[in-house]
Amino acid sequence: MNLGIPRGVQDILPDETPFWHLIENTARNLFEKYNYEEIRTPIFEFTELFIKGTGETTDIVMKEMYTFQDKKGRSLTLRPEGTPGVIRAYLMNKIYATTPIWKVYYIGPMFRYERPQAGRYRQFHQLGVEVLGRKDPYIDFEIINLAIEFLKTLELENLEVEINSLGCTKCRPAYREALKNYFSQYKDILSPIDQERLERNPLRILDSKDEKIIPLKENAPQPLDFLCDDCKNHFERVLNYMNEADLSFKISPKLVRGLDYYTRTVFEITTTSLGAQNAVVGGGRYDNLVETYGGPSTPGLGFALGIERLILLLKQQNKIKIERPPLIFIAIEKEKHVKKAMEIAKSLRTNYRVEMGSPEESLRTQLKWADKLNSDYVIFVNQGIENNILKIKNFKTGEEKEIKIEDIKELQHVVL
Ligand code: ATP
Ligand code: MG
Repeated sequence: MNLGIPRGVQDILPDETPFWHLIENTARNLFEKYNYEEIRTPIFEFTELFIKGTGETTDIVMKEMYTFQDKKGRSLTLRPEGTPGVIRAYLMNKIYATTPIWKVYYIGPMFRYERPQAGRYRQFHQLGVEVLGRKDPYIDFEIINLAIEFLKTLELENLEVEINSLGCTKCRPAYREALKNYFSQYKDILSPIDQERLERNPLRILDSKDEKIIPLKENAPQPLDFLCDDCKNHFERVLNYMNEADLSFKISPKLVRGLDYYTRTVFEITTTSLGAQNAVVGGGRYDNLVETYGGPSTPGLGFALGIERLILLLKQQNKIKIERPPLIFIAIEKEKHVKKAMEIAKSLRTNYRVEMGSPEESLRTQLKWADKLNSDYVIFVNQGIENNILKIKNFKTGEEKEIKIEDIKELQHVVL
């Protein structure tokens, strides 16, 4: 058999998993302290969920979804992003009825059919947070701050926060109209997809990566110029809190984000260290999404962060040293020594990694294993334990010592 793997997916091998643990543990710790709880939603959902939520004119839905039919002919899709599943869970479980403010986080794989390159894969992982039930601008600030705090906890540098506001159902129609008029002048240049978007959702053209469109975006109308008073005030309040907290940021009037549900605040955290794939975090407010799915009017907001890109950054900035505890190998002479060997191993495992040899094998073979496993120390459990004596060998220096078995608790002082 020719072993292979589909394009854009990858193994996370054991020398990589410590980075994943670090990121996941840091996220869990921090988010729990901000009173978020973890949610785990299914990897696949009904396709309709994403068409309705993420938006049928977005790149994600038009080009990037892994959609398939199950054996009963139902259309299912591997989730390309986390928010729609969280909102579906909120509605199906009627969480709104008992929990007026709901704060959750998730960590898991997402799937998008994109052109794979460094920092861009077809299966990738996001961690994200969602807050449902708060419309005040302080919470917009809080989630931006939470994303920044998370990245700072990991000691990341060269980050830039970009913020914009996309307005609401009140002010969006005028902006949409202005955009439509603007891009209509260039109808002939627009690709068939963007021509369709011109009719259905001109905002999406601003998200186009088409070379011919990029220069046109320069003079396109900007959402900030169309905000109603409420949206303007909300935006100013968010920026106020950012200033209040001394967080640096940049207003990016052209930032629209690739999902349809955003209203008001949108933001991205980018880095100057990752080349083209420079977005690490993306997020924003979605005050109409719950209603779009048929639920009660509920404001919401959140962000998602790409774990692979974060790991690329961590490695590049070389801040994090991943260390495992020293490895102790216990060589066991005879079957009758097993019980004692297990007791010793158990007490050592509080501070060390412990590997067991086997009384089935000669001491010589056991020592070969110890070497192959790259052990730091070997402890010999043999007839010496009948006199409460253990021999310890530092496998790197060859130095040997004998200690009393009751001193095992202090072993770390003896050995290290
Ligand atoms: P990009 O502009 O780079 O395509 P995006 O706006 O599509 O990003 P979001 O949907 O906002 O990304 O997802 C949030 C984060 O998830 C991104 O900032 C990025 O770190 C990560 N991400 C998105 N798509 C991928 C992918 N295909 N491979 C790896 N990470 C990704
Ligand atoms: Mg994308």
